[in-house]
Amino acid sequence: GPLPSACGRERRLGIMGGTFDPIHYGHLVTAEQAREALELDLVLFMPAGSPAFKRGKSVSTPEDRYAMTVLATAANPAFYACRFEIDRKGITYTVDTLRALRDYYASDVELFFITGADAILDIVSWRDAEQIAGLATLIAATRPGYDISQAQERIEASGFPFDVRYIEIPALAISSTNIRARVRANKSVRYLTSESVIGFIRKNRLYLDGCPDEGDTR
Ligand code: ATP
Ligand code: MG
Repeated sequence: GPLPSACGRERRLGIMGGTFDPIHYGHLVTAEQAREALELDLVLFMPAGSPAFKRGKSVSTPEDRYAMTVLATAANPAFYACRFEIDRKGITYTVDTLRALRDYYASDVELFFITGADAILDIVSWRDAEQIAGLATLIAATRPGYDISQAQERIEASGFPFDVRYIEIPALAISSTNIRARVRANKSVRYLTSESVIGFIRKNRLYLDGCPDEGDTR
């Protein structure tokens, strides 16, 4: 099925959502260190089907983004590439995914939603933010030296009961936007993501044409 069946052992479940166009070491290091810091049993990598924030932009097909996610996560027994959002039609909202996971898993399974620090800044404006707060603990990945006070102030001002754990990830200024731009410009993307993902990008001739997109910080 689209979700890994609860085999009775997983109690602390991480969810790493993203466009993953392509998945890269920023995502993987973040998920791994979140897993370790919060003692997660499993991290679901959830490529977005029709990303709510990327309407109107050209995005690789869901199957290609899912395939790269499988390749990049294959060797980690605590990582699972999840088809759930790409098998749903329409725009993906975090709250819908969290609700579905909440319904699917036993009530003693705790949900942890992992995001980059950039996303945490506007989480209070996400659809049904207050419900998100009740469904999952947020894990916000920051860089060493990153000032979390702005995010904390916004969350406090919202009045929503968010439980946010901040974890410091060693500086990783890797983004999918930069990888796509490098592929298009025929520059090296080695060591920014796994060899298997790079091979898939080359084999399927991803990111070679299309208009160069602005550096999206999301
Ligand atoms: P794009 O450049 O196309 O926006 P991206 O690299 O930001 O892509 P996304 O798929 O948009 O990747 O991000 C998915 C999740 O991973 C988001 O929560 C985002 O904040 C987080 N993230 C992205 N890049 C990093 C990174 N280098 N380190 C930690 N978290 C990251
Ligand atoms: Mg982004």
